[in-house]
Amino acid sequence: MSMAICPSCEGEIKLTRKVELGQRIRCPLCLEDLEVVETNPVELDWAYDEEEEWDDEWEEEEEEAEDEDSSW
Ligand SMILES: [Zn+2]
Repeated sequence: MSMAICPSCEGEIKLTRKVELGQRIRCPLCLEDLEVVETNPVELDWAYDEEEEWDDEWEEEEEEAEDEDSSW
């Protein structure tokens, strides 16, 4: 079994399986999406998705429940 250090929280991630280059791993401690950039020893880096602009999208909250209340 090998270990890797999370670049985000610097926690130790236990790798129970063999990892491959480019494999995505989610840090169990900070839930950050990581990618294997080195396998011997295993080194992790942040995984970047296609969509990088998600700053504002967290703010959106849909209020579906409110509309149900419209009077007939
Ligand atoms: Zn982490």
